[in-house]
Amino acid sequence: MKSQEVRSKFLNFFKDKKHSIVPSAPMVLKDDPTLMFVNSGMAPFKEYFLGNAEPKSNRIADTQKCLRVSGKHNDLEEVGYDTYHHTLFEMLGNWSFGDYFKKEAIAWAWELLTEVYGIDKDILYVTVFEGDAKDGTDMDTEAYDFWKAHIAEDRILKGDKKDNFWEMGDQGPCGPCSEIHVDIRSAEEKSKIDGKNLVNMDHPQVVEIWNLVFMQYNRKANGALEVLPNKHIDTGMGFERLCMVLQGVQSNYDTDVFTPIIREIETITNKKYGKEEKTDIAIRVISDHVRAVAFSIADGQLPSNTGAGYVIRRILRRAVRYGFTFLDKKEPFIYRLVDVLSKQMGKAFPELKAQKQLIENVIKEEEQSFLRTLDQGLVLLNGIVEETKGDMVSGEKAFELYDTYGFPIDLTALILSEKGLKLDEKGFEKELQKQKDRSRAASEMSTDDWTILVDDAEEEFVGYDTLEANVKLTRYRKV
Ligand code: ATP
Ligand code: MG
Ligand code: MG
Ligand code: MG
Repeated sequence: MKSQEVRSKFLNFFKDKKHSIVPSAPMVLKDDPTLMFVNSGMAPFKEYFLGNAEPKSNRIADTQKCLRVSGKHNDLEEVGYDTYHHTLFEMLGNWSFGDYFKKEAIAWAWELLTEVYGIDKDILYVTVFEGDAKDGTDMDTEAYDFWKAHIAEDRILKGDKKDNFWEMGDQGPCGPCSEIHVDIRSAEEKSKIDGKNLVNMDHPQVVEIWNLVFMQYNRKANGALEVLPNKHIDTGMGFERLCMVLQGVQSNYDTDVFTPIIREIETITNKKYGKEEKTDIAIRVISDHVRAVAFSIADGQLPSNTGAGYVIRRILRRAVRYGFTFLDKKEPFIYRLVDVLSKQMGKAFPELKAQKQLIENVIKEEEQSFLRTLDQGLVLLNGIVEETKGDMVSGEKAFELYDTYGFPIDLTALILSEKGLKLDEKGFEKELQKQKDRSRAASEMSTDDWTILVDDAEEEFVGYDTLEANVKLTRYRKV
C-alpha cells in the first residue's frame, strides 16, 4: 500500500465515523509562546481541551506535521541511528472533544488497523495504565475490558505512569493512555524464540505506533486530580511507522516516504545505501533533515541565528556536515532534494509545492555559507582533538568553532563524540555569556538616549536544544 493511500485511508475512515477532516496546522504556532514547534497532533487543539475555545466540530481527524527537536520531546540524537525516530514526522490523529470516549476510540483503532489496513492481529500488542498509588488512581480496567473484546489477554500489558499516563503539563487535562505496538520481527526469527519469551516489548523490532489518550482528569494546582465532566479522546499514530508495517519493511527509510529521496542522494553522491553503516547513517540523517528544514521554510520559519530559526539552522548544518564528512560532498546538494520531496509530498502538503523555489534558494544559500567555513573548522577541530589530553575538550575551543566557523554547539559535541571525546558545556556557556556581555556593553554605549532598564528573562544554557531559544525580553527606558 502506497503511503498516499495509507494517509487517505486513515482520513476517510474517520470521515465515515463523522469526523471533520482538517488540514495540518503550521509547525510553528504563532499564538502559543510555550511551544517552539508543534510536537504532537494535539498541540493545535490545546485551547479546546482547556476549554478556552470551542471546536467547530466535536470530532476531528487530521495528519499533523510534528517536529521533535527541542524541549520535552527531543529525538534528534536518535535520528539516523535508529530507523523509526525522525525530526519531522506526520502524526495521524482522531479527536473527540467531549463526545465519544474509550469504547469507540479502542474499537475504531482496532477496526482500522486489522480490517481496513489488514494488519495481522497476532503481531499487535496493547498497553493499559496500571494505576498509581500516589495519585490514588486505579488500573484502567475500562480500557482493559474494551481491549479484551478484541485481543488475547496475554497481549494486553500493563504500563506505569511514565508510559501510560499523559499530562499536558503540571496542571490541566490528563489521563491514562493505551499504546499499540507492532512486532515486526520475521516469522523465521520468531520461530527461534521460546514461546514464553515471545512477548517482548523491549525488542527494537517491537515498535510503538499509536497512542490513545483518554483525557478524564484535570490536574489541579495543588496536584490533586479531579474527574472531568467532559471527557476527551486524543490519539496520535506515527504515519511513517504505519507505512513501514503496511509495506512489510523493517525501517521507515525503506518505505516510499523516504526511498525517492534516498535514491536521489545516491544519484547525486554516487554512494549506495545499504552497504556501509556510516554512509547509511549519513544518508538517513540527510533524508530526514531535509524534510524538517523544507517543511519549516514552507511554513515561514527560515533558518536564522535565534529561537526556532536557529534550531532549523542547526538541523541543516548537521546535515551538511554529514554529507561533507561521510558522503564526500563538498558543494551544496541538499537543496537538490527538494524537487523529489515536493513531488512526493506536494499533494498532501501543497505548501511544499507552492514554496519550492524559496525552499531551494534558502537551503542552497545556507549550504554555501556553512561550507565556506566547514572545512577550516574541521581542520581546527582535528587539531583540538590531537592536543586534547584526557577526554574533555575545553569550552573555549568549542566557542571559537561556534563564533568563527559557525559550528552549532551540538554539532561540535556530535563530532567529538564520534571521536570518543566529551565537551565542556559549562565552559562554552561561560564564553557565550562573555560575548553577550561584550555586545551588550557595546550596544549600551551606542544607544544615546535609550538605556537598558531591566532584563525580564535571564538567558541560561539549559542544554543544547534550548540554547539560543530562550527569548530575551529587554525593556528600555528613555533617559
Ligand atoms: P517513542 O516511545 O517511540 O519515542 P513516543 O511515546 O514518544 O514514541 P507519542 O508521544 O506517544 O510517541 O506519539 C504518538 C506516536 O507518534 C507514537 O506512537 C509514534 O508512532 C509516533 N512518533 C513519536 N515520535 C516519533 C518520531 N520522532 N518519529 C516518528 N514517529 C514518532
Ligand atoms: Mg519518544
Ligand atoms: Mg513511547
Ligand atoms: Mg507514546
